[in-house]
Amino acid sequence: MKTRASTNVCPYCATEQDSASCLSGDSSPGPKSGDMLLCAACSRWIVRDTAAPGNARRPNAAEQRRLDSDPFAALVSEQWRKIKEGRS
Ligand SMILES: [Zn+2]
Repeated sequence: MKTRASTNVCPYCATEQDSASCLSGDSSPGPKSGDMLLCAACSRWIVRDTAAPGNARRPNAAEQRRLDSDPFAALVSEQWRKIKEGRS
């Protein structure tokens, strides 16, 4: 796993993120438009979109359906939320 410089602003909590890590593989130069990102601050899935304000947006209906039907996506979000709650 490699962490890359990437500036995104979460459309849910407005947290600016200055880096991103990929869950698998490490050959990508960084997130590209259309990639799903988990906001480290609010634990919600967002979509990298360089055409959107802050380079990120909320998932559209089709993307949200895909997230909702992916047990891994829900598991990652929930586990990250629990880790954060354990820290507070
Ligand atoms: Zn957020």
